[in-house]
Parts: sequence; structure tokens; C-alpha cells
Amino acid sequence: MPTFRAPRGTRDLLPPETATWTRLERLAADLAVRYGYRRIETPLFELTDVFERGVGEVTDIVEKELFRLTPRTDEAESWALRPEPTAGIVRAYIQHGMQTLPQPVRLTETGPMFRYDRPQAGRYRQFWQWDIEAIGDPGPAIDAEIIELGTRFYRDAGLEGIEVRLNSIGDPACRPTYVAELTNYYRANRDALPATEKDRLERNVLRLLDSKDPAMTVVNAAAPKITDRLCAACADHFAGVRAHLEVLEVPYRLEPGLVRGLDYYTRTAFEFYVVGREGQQQAVGGGGRYDGLVGLLGGRPTPGIGFGIGIDRLILALSEAGVVGPAEPAPVAVVVGADPADTTGRLRLATDLRAAGIAARADLGQRKLGKQLEAAARDHAHFAVILGDEAASGEVGLRDLPAGTQKLVPIVDLAREIERADAGHRHGPGTD
Ligand code: AMP
Repeated sequence: MPTFRAPRGTRDLLPPETATWTRLERLAADLAVRYGYRRIETPLFELTDVFERGVGEVTDIVEKELFRLTPRTDEAESWALRPEPTAGIVRAYIQHGMQTLPQPVRLTETGPMFRYDRPQAGRYRQFWQWDIEAIGDPGPAIDAEIIELGTRFYRDAGLEGIEVRLNSIGDPACRPTYVAELTNYYRANRDALPATEKDRLERNVLRLLDSKDPAMTVVNAAAPKITDRLCAACADHFAGVRAHLEVLEVPYRLEPGLVRGLDYYTRTAFEFYVVGREGQQQAVGGGGRYDGLVGLLGGRPTPGIGFGIGIDRLILALSEAGVVGPAEPAPVAVVVGADPADTTGRLRLATDLRAAGIAARADLGQRKLGKQLEAAARDHAHFAVILGDEAASGEVGLRDLPAGTQKLVPIVDLAREIERADAGHRHGPGTD
């Protein structure tokens, strides 16, 4: 047993799996550029108030899952690790006066989030999200644009069968009446509620609707639906979102119980699920509109919408679906030598090749040529560059490892020769 292990609920991401992470991060970054989103980086921790006010005090994320940092005694401020990125991004939007920019401001961030949750498969205490936010557009067209972007990311990642679940949770004009009606409904059915749900009933009744407790299925099925009680403006907005999704041919399923865990959402709420993975009760991504959040955090009232896509769960779903990860990049050339002690010669040549843009490694162990060549083949290198006696007359051996052929090449031509032969190898018959 090792003395130390990664903290409970966290993981080390190791090669070769990290090649998949790199692929998904690039895909997300490319799509963000294609859709006009610009990168933002906010701190991994914020003043606790940003989350308490922004996410809402009576939410699981803040009540139970916030990683609070203990301030040193001389610090008056209290901080918490970010459980989600939206509150921090909106804080930055206000702080840097982004309301004066052309609206909406489209921003993207990818990075770790922290929730002090009970760890299980697909639920970690540190996990990664790709986040997209469009601040300053009331929709509904942009709502559909963002949902379509999410579905494209999954599809381009190689995951088929993503289901969009969609709801509208109203706004301050219509939600209070609905919440009162819902509270009365659950109070009338109090005896049917499990103890934890009775407790939530008086504090955050909407959360009962998306309870995962099987005992709630029947009572929830008969609960009043917010989509039947939207005010005219919210109903129009919701119809607009749906009409735009239909034009974009993005299928969706209406899910009246989808309320999302955070207080700041208004109107559009959506989640991404993998068809066939419902048993896990775990969304692979989710988002929604937050027209009140900028105001809550002290800015001029400004609408916004965004999503967070969980990278960890996407990778789990990809591996369950049998999507194989990308091959790890192999060195194009490994520099080996007949004189085991001549590490300077090998290192210098590899450094020159790298300066010329070639992925090269030097064998820096002091071992026999045969062993160096074996290691180069194990690394799946295309070439071994062999430093031998000919180096005195400015030449080295260039061995094509898969082909088993070898020739002498002047050192001055080496980089060009490797580039030419490697390009031919990669684009040769049967490899494209
Ligand atoms: P949420 O804002 O809670 O809907 O989170 C958005 C997405 O982040 C989810 O759909 C998941 O893919 C991912 N996610 C949330 N919490 C966790 C967690 N504890 N571990 C791994 N992924 C998570």
C-alpha cells in the first residue's frame, strides 16, 4: 500500500486516457471559436458570497457540497472552491464592465469544479466542465443556438444518442404563484413524502420535482406542471425556443420535472442525457437561462444563458459506448548511438531535430545499441537515427523501423529527409 493516495473523490488523470482529454478539450475549444465564444479564465475559488448569492443558499451545492476554505485568522474574507463556473464568470462580467461591450458577450471556460459530494461512479469531488455562457441576450433564438452547440459537441466527440430534456421554469412573474400551488399540493400529500423531502418541502419545494427517490414517482407524476402555468411572456419565450430547435432539427423531450439544482435559473432549463444510460440517473451536461443572476450579483439586470458539460461523465459514456480513444503520439525519431557513453552526441542531435520541428527523443541511458533500438521500436518510433563511426564524416544511419530498411544520410539533410519520409509514411497507401 502506498503511503499517500489522491484524496477521496479525486482522480489522477493518466496517460493514455489523457489523450482523450486532450482531444475533447481541443474539440471544445474549436467549437467555441466556430460559434464565436471567447476564452475566459476565472479563479478556482471566489468569495463565498458569490456562490451563496449566485447559486442560492438553499441548494445542495451551497448547503452541503461547497468546499469552504478556512481563512487565516488575519483574513476577513471567506472563500470557497468553485462548484460551478457561471457565478464566477458573471462576477467577472460585472467587475470588468463587460456590459459596455456589444451584447451578448459570449464566453467559454474549461476547468475543474469542486463539490463535496458522496463519491461514486461518475460523481467526483473534483470534476471537469466545459462551460459556455452568452450574457446579454434575452433569447429565445440564442437558447436554441446553445442547445444545438451542446448536441454538436457530443456528436463530434463520437457519442450518438444524446437526448435533450427541456423545460421552462418561469420567471419572477409566474413562478411564485406556481410555487405556492406546488407547496399546497405536496402539503396535501405530506404523508406520501419521505422524510428528506418533507424537510425540503418548506425550504425549496421545486427540488421535490426532480427528486431521485423512487417513493416520489407517483406523487410527482400528478404534481401541477409549471409549463401549464407560465405567464404569457414566459409561454411565448418557451414556444420560441421550441420553434427554433425544430428549425435546427434538434430533437428534445419535454420534461416538466426538470428544475435544475440552482436558484438562479429562469425560463429555459435543459439537460443532456445519453439514451440507454438512464439507469444511472446522471446527466452528462446541463444548463439554462439565468436572467436574474447579473442583478443578484450587483450588476445592471442583464439576461444570460449557458451550459456546463461534464467531461468526466462524457469520457465514461464514450468508453461504455466502445468509442476508442485516440492513439498516443509516438516520437517520429529516436536518436541512438553505438557508443553508450556518448550521451552528449545523442542529446545534441535530438535537440537539433526538435528545433527543426520534429518529435524526437534521444536515448539517454548508457546501454548497448541493441537495447536502445529495442526501446525505440517499443515506443513505436518511425525512425531510429543511429550515431556511429560515420558521424566523423558528417553522416548518420537512418533506420525505418517498421520497414526494416536503413541508409546513410548526411547530418545536414537529416531533418528534411525525416520529414519527407515521415509524411510519405503517414499519407501512404492504406494509412489514410
Ligand atoms: P450541474 O450544473 O450540476 O447540472 O452539472 C453540469 C454537469 O457537470 C453534469 O451534467 C455532469 O456532467 C457534471 N457534473 C456535475 N457534478 C459532477 C460530479 N460530482 N462529478 C462528475 N461530474 C459532475
